[in-house]
Order: sequence, then structure tokens, then C-alpha cells
Amino acid sequence: MSDPIERREFGRAKLADQLRTLGVERGGVLLVHTSFRAVRPIAGGPLGLIEALREAVGPDGTLVMPSWTGDDNAPFYPATTPASPDLGIVADIFWRLPGVLRSNHPFACAASGPQAEQITADPLPLPPHRPESPVGRVHDLDGQVLLLGIGHEENTTLHLAELLAGAPYRVPKHCTIAEDGRPVRIDYGENDHCCARFALADEWLRQRGLQSEGLVGHAHARLARSHDIVRVAIDRLRADPLLFLHREGAGCAECDAARRSIA
Ligand SMILES: [Zn+2]
Repeated sequence: MSDPIERREFGRAKLADQLRTLGVERGGVLLVHTSFRAVRPIAGGPLGLIEALREAVGPDGTLVMPSWTGDDNAPFYPATTPASPDLGIVADIFWRLPGVLRSNHPFACAASGPQAEQITADPLPLPPHRPESPVGRVHDLDGQVLLLGIGHEENTTLHLAELLAGAPYRVPKHCTIAEDGRPVRIDYGENDHCCARFALADEWLRQRGLQSEGLVGHAHARLARSHDIVRVAIDRLRADPLLFLHREGAGCAECDAARRSIA
């Protein structure tokens, strides 16, 4: 690891160049999950990175980022509720920018560009990443998924694949919405677990030549089509629907809870 103090700062033009070299399509739909810590330093900070992403997709492209709340107990307001700290600073800055649309529910994504309305328009999706959700709409629109400085453990599109493949686990969860100005708790079951084994998608995509990898800023970046991510995962999940769960006795409380949830 190089000393962070010695890290060279990347400017917008160089970043946009790296993104295009990686395979980001002009005019396409791009869903971005980011660790800014891995990418930096960037001229202009997180906003500089967002500008580079916009430059890479161009004026006819649509940029999408997760924007859900990390607070299950507070009602979600799209104009004020911060994005979950887990999503990082880039995601929390993006939804606040002029012209960026945000879903009106706790599992929101934010989007800017020609397809932004279609991606953010669905009502509360339960489970959160079903086909009628922002991540599902990115899939409908043949979008690309960019993982910047993070792995498939954070790749929400794999939760969509689980649902499409019929993964049977649903752990009890709740969220809170505002109805006539009052908080209303909604209980639901979600196909969730620790997500560590989502990392298997690296190997599946690499084997088939469906994942592009390279540097963006200082971060290792992965780029794949939503369709390809979903397809390779469904192929594996059909053979073993519990493939993403740690085995019983492995000491993973979250995966054990997912196993227990199977009726
Ligand atoms: Zn686990």
C-alpha cells in the first residue's frame, strides 16, 4: 500500500477517460456503488467524481446511485432524509444535487438523466430489490453496474437475481413510511443475509469474460451489465438456491437467520 499522503490527485478529464477505458457506455444507464476512500484524492472531492461519471455517460446517459435510508424506524422523506452512511459520501451528495430525482420510499435510488424518472417512479417495493424497484428498472433498461473500490458484496443487483431465481429465504425486517404526516411501520420479509458470498460473482463473470476491471482514480473498479450479473447468478442459484448463504455452523448469524426463515 502506498502512503495516502503521496497519492496523486486525479482530475475530472482523467477520471472520465479511465471510466470510458473500463467500458462505461455513453448514453447508457450506469448504476454506481462507490467507496470514495478507495478512489480519492480527486480534484473537487466527491463532486468531482460525480462530474466525471456524468461526463463518461454523457448528456444522453443516466447516472444512478443507491440512496436508501439506514434508519428503519424514522419515516423517509425524499427531500431531507440522508442516505445510509453505509452508502458513502458520494451517494449522499448525489441525491442532493439539482436535477437529481429520488424515489419516494425508504429503499430509494437517486438518478439523473433521460431515464431518471422511470428508474425512481415505482412505489415502495417489497422486498426492496424486486423487479419493480430502481435496481430492477436499471436491469430492464440494460444498464451497467459499476463497483468503485468495492466488491460484489455491495452489489444490490444480486438481490434482484435472488428474487428472480426464487431464493426461498425471507428474514423479518421493517421500515417506516410517512402517511398523512404520521409514521407508519411496515413489516416485511427480505431476501437478506451477510452478503459475503456475493463475492462469488467475480469468478462467474470473469470466467465468461463479462466483467471489465481496471483503475478509476486509485480504486479497483469492476464493470458488468446488469443483465449479465443477473443471468450468471440465476444459473448458479437454480442449481443451489442457498448458494449465497454461509453453511450451517459456519458461525454467520445473518446467514443462519436466513436459513431459519425458510418455511
Ligand atoms: Zn453469512
